[in-house]
Amino acid sequence: MARLNAHPSGRHFLQIPGPTNVPDRILRAMDHPTIDHRGPEFQALARQVLAGLRPIFQARGPVVIYPASGTGAWEAALVNTLSSGDAVLMVETGHFATLWKRLAERLGLKPEFIAGDWRRGVDAAAVEARLRDDKAHAFKAVCIVHNETSTGVTSDVAAVRRAIDAARHPALLMVDTISSLGSIDYRHDEWGVDVTVAGSQKGLMLPPGLSFNAISDRALAAAKAARLPKSYWAWDEMLAANANGWFPFTPATNLLYGLAEAIDMLMSEGLAAVFARHARHAEATRAAVRAWGFELLCVNPAEYSNSLTAVLMPAGHDADAFRKIVLDHFNMSLGQGLTRLAGKVFRIGHLGDFNDLTLVGTLGGIEMGLALAGVPHREGGVQAAMASLRAAAGG
Ligand SMILES: *Cc1c(COP(=O)(O)O)cnc(C)c1O
Repeated sequence: MARLNAHPSGRHFLQIPGPTNVPDRILRAMDHPTIDHRGPEFQALARQVLAGLRPIFQARGPVVIYPASGTGAWEAALVNTLSSGDAVLMVETGHFATLWKRLAERLGLKPEFIAGDWRRGVDAAAVEARLRDDKAHAFKAVCIVHNETSTGVTSDVAAVRRAIDAARHPALLMVDTISSLGSIDYRHDEWGVDVTVAGSQKGLMLPPGLSFNAISDRALAAAKAARLPKSYWAWDEMLAANANGWFPFTPATNLLYGLAEAIDMLMSEGLAAVFARHARHAEATRAAVRAWGFELLCVNPAEYSNSLTAVLMPAGHDADAFRKIVLDHFNMSLGQGLTRLAGKVFRIGHLGDFNDLTLVGTLGGIEMGLALAGVPHREGGVQAAMASLRAAAGG
């Protein structure tokens, strides 16, 4: 059954929550000879993308671009602003929050983890209480994941900013938006975020390979005093070079051509329309999950993610065996359960280059796969999603 090249026609459905499907426009934009990164054509491209990224982050200040996966931008956020032994407050929303915490430990920071059950977002009241207790202001940063990709839970970043302010605490606020930027409303300036971390391969519809830090004035000031060792990630050299349209090392030139195209696509659709599209597809997906009779991993409707949905498998059924059947029969990749959720959930990515009919196809593959895998469910999930999409279209 799992023959190589078993699906010679049609597109693979890459419905994991990142990397996401790369649209033809972006593939074509990158299909270009690599140019001299010290020449005028490159300088114009760099200026275009460095300026064009700011509205995507809803930031007026600088955004730096690394040729790196999102993990690199996590590290950059920490090493540029903190010193060895600094305490940071982190929140256990799921797998990605846990990885960021482990990275902080390896760098010699002292993360304190507010425990979570991987089904809920950040509890802003718990953050506020912990910061109020920290009279000596030992915590130098609060680090949270906006959209926890392992669980399909979106946290209220503005509420966390209000919590920090209510506690009158000077900690920086750092937010991982790797699976929300360009899919779910996110406001770096308005929400008082100091460092926003993002990546290329999810809402921005690019291949993996770029990541970003959007930087506030307070973070720039903290960088002057930060003592963690850094070289490749150092903001000062990067910002000095960027000011003139250059990079301190060889940039990922062809990905930047794709980035320029992605920015153009998002801004011409309009961010509000992009966010509404993701909300519509998430709502229709949840309608299908409810119709099948399954439970969402996210327990709080106010925190449902608009970029992915994590679905609990009925007890006694292996999510990975089901995913394999969907891949073998329908050429579609669904997201696996990560670490403690392995085999227990599957994740449906509905972000990036995605429309109503891609969703109907995605859900159709899932519904057929459930039957083939012998997973007990009610039929009619696709019907329910179509009714939701039809209603959103005014019918
Ligand atoms: C994908 C993802 C990451 C990891 O990014 P890499 O590009 O794999 O390093 C981190 N955080 C979140 C929320 C993600 O979705």
